[in-house]
Amino acid sequence: MTEISICKESGFRAGPNCKNKIEQFVQNSGLKTKPCPYHVLVHLDASKSYRVNTSCENLTAISNTSWFVLPPLMEFYYKSKNPFYKSLPSFRNDCTGKEEINMEFIYPKDNNIIFLPKGLDGKINDLVLKIAHSKPKSIIYWYLNKHFIGKTTDILYLAIIPKEGKHIITAVDEIGNEIKRTI
Ligand SMILES: [Zn+2]
Repeated sequence: MTEISICKESGFRAGPNCKNKIEQFVQNSGLKTKPCPYHVLVHLDASKSYRVNTSCENLTAISNTSWFVLPPLMEFYYKSKNPFYKSLPSFRNDCTGKEEINMEFIYPKDNNIIFLPKGLDGKINDLVLKIAHSKPKSIIYWYLNKHFIGKTTDILYLAIIPKEGKHIITAVDEIGNEIKRTI
């Protein structure tokens, strides 16, 4: 066994950007594991509420901060149990920065067979389509087999009752990112 630093938030071997580290003995084979991928260095403005870069801010006014960033689907579940989780701030409007947009389906899973049970009132329950998005306030356009079925703003779910059969569900965000599910 060898004693190494572990990232307290992720449980990975601590990397250079991890803030809270704990020392723990691990088996020597565990020394080959990758360092924590979720603590990343981000560049923030003085208010620490926006990400900036040198296109819009003086180098001296940029603060480099370590931030715990999870992919959207993980973030969705982690956030519900961890009130202290703060999503990565977005770029300030005057910055030319690349915002990495990520969206994923939370439900349904791909190639899933879904049964819509009847409720006590005899009505068929809805299928609730749900996605996680790195910008939670995005406008989402929903399609069922290429037919537009609705638009949601601020919320990332939509209830539908599709007919029995094979369906392709598509969600497109306001800047054209697209994800699909076959059920
Ligand atoms: Zn970490």
